[in-house]
Amino acid sequence: MATKNLLSNALKKEGLRHTIQRQAVWDEIKSNDDHRDAEQIYSALRKNNLNVSRATVYRTIDVLYKNNLIRKIELGDSPSKYENKVNSDHHDHIICVQCGRIDEFVDDKIESQQDKIIDKLGFKMIRHIHQLFVLCKDCQ
Ligand SMILES: [Zn+2]
Ligand SMILES: [Zn+2]
Repeated sequence: MATKNLLSNALKKEGLRHTIQRQAVWDEIKSNDDHRDAEQIYSALRKNNLNVSRATVYRTIDVLYKNNLIRKIELGDSPSKYENKVNSDHHDHIICVQCGRIDEFVDDKIESQQDKIIDKLGFKMIRHIHQLFVLCKDCQ
């Protein structure tokens, strides 16, 4: 499905109109592979001279997350970070608690072990979040 329709459908579900501003938020998130918080996404839009309000950025991010179009990285005390999830392969994150650097990883053993645990219980996996908090090489 075209990504434009993905946004339209998500907005429709939430009873919101598809506007240029909301499209701009989605385009900005899709524009790179970075993990950014709402404030960073907001500044990037402003830097590109897009007149999008902070409230629109936060609201649109909520809608995108609720509709599974973006991935959320929960960081405890710091604001959550987001990345595009559409056509992006599943991966997990390693987060440096000192400098905030985020690395991605996939480990087939961990993935299949998680599936086995869920299978054994007779459950059905909906999604999983696996985050490792570390001190990176530079911060040790
Ligand atoms: Zn670090
Ligand atoms: Zn990622």
